[in-house]
Amino acid sequence: MTIVSKDINKASEILHDEDVVAIPTETVYGLAGNIYSEKAIRKIFQLKQRPLFNPLIVHIHSTEQLDEIVSYIPDKAKLLADTFWPGPLTLILKKKSNIPDLVTSGKDTVAVRIPRHPLTLSLLEKIDFPLAAPSANPFGSISPTNPSHVENYFRGRLSMILDGGDCKSGIESTIIGFENDKPVLYRLGSIAIEDITKVTGPIEIKNKKETAPNAPGMLSRHYAPETSTFLVDDVEEFIAGRTDKNIGVLLFDKKINAPNIAVQEILSKKGDLKEAASRLYASLHKLDKLNLDLIVAERFPDSGLGKSINDRLERATRKN
Ligand code: AMP
Ligand code: MG
Repeated sequence: MTIVSKDINKASEILHDEDVVAIPTETVYGLAGNIYSEKAIRKIFQLKQRPLFNPLIVHIHSTEQLDEIVSYIPDKAKLLADTFWPGPLTLILKKKSNIPDLVTSGKDTVAVRIPRHPLTLSLLEKIDFPLAAPSANPFGSISPTNPSHVENYFRGRLSMILDGGDCKSGIESTIIGFENDKPVLYRLGSIAIEDITKVTGPIEIKNKKETAPNAPGMLSRHYAPETSTFLVDDVEEFIAGRTDKNIGVLLFDKKINAPNIAVQEILSKKGDLKEAASRLYASLHKLDKLNLDLIVAERFPDSGLGKSINDRLERATRKN
């Protein structure tokens, strides 16, 4: 039986027992375990069926706690942390030797962030260890943004889901690493790139599989529904010749008129990219449950969070 509740005392007890708890964050739900417990970390990899060479993000509650896990912080990392933490920004920094190799896949760096979710921050303050937490979905599938998504994936195999409601940002954190102290963006995410460069100045982007081979979020196919999914510039034109198909569409702000559409998901009627990002995965989960022949998504404007949304849709629609 999986407990679904807001009880952080219970969550803390389970984590102290070296077990795994699904936790809410502002981005997506995570599968969390004590970074110092080999048993818990192995269970995370096993539940997710995630390859061991893909490192996990470590969650902490304060910049003071950062000193426990990293050995060096470049000036621009400090600036980014001061600006965006708690929030959906992950920094890749040189790790201290006490951080288990299992968490970092043997790398000499560790991915770390302070999440912006009151329940999870209280939990992190209550326990005396950081939490490693990748997204709470089987490797490659759509990330969960509410407790029922997590339950559907891991029903019965997970001791507890800490119920923090719907995730407010809805797509994963923006990941930034450092090469010779210069920031490099490895994953587009919940913080728009324009907001990052206001702090860092121009930044190199390496979010492709070829340049970021160790980032699973960077694999060509990831975040993918079971249903055959397409990303197109013109949805009406794409579906016009497919009248024999049962089609679900995912649109930014406006409905379209076509007889062969079974269901339309509009991500933000007011055309707000932040709202659209927060609803993206919930809409994909919903469409994926309807036994459609096809899901057709509209390409978003290529700026701000639109870039991050397009990145996820491209990976969701890639065939390999
Ligand atoms: P997830 O938590 O499932 O959204 O994935 C965490 C992301 O952080 C993945 O893309 C990881 O590969 C990336 N990551 C974690 N640690 C490191 C690291 N030390 N170096 C580079 N990427 C990392
Ligand atoms: Mg993930």
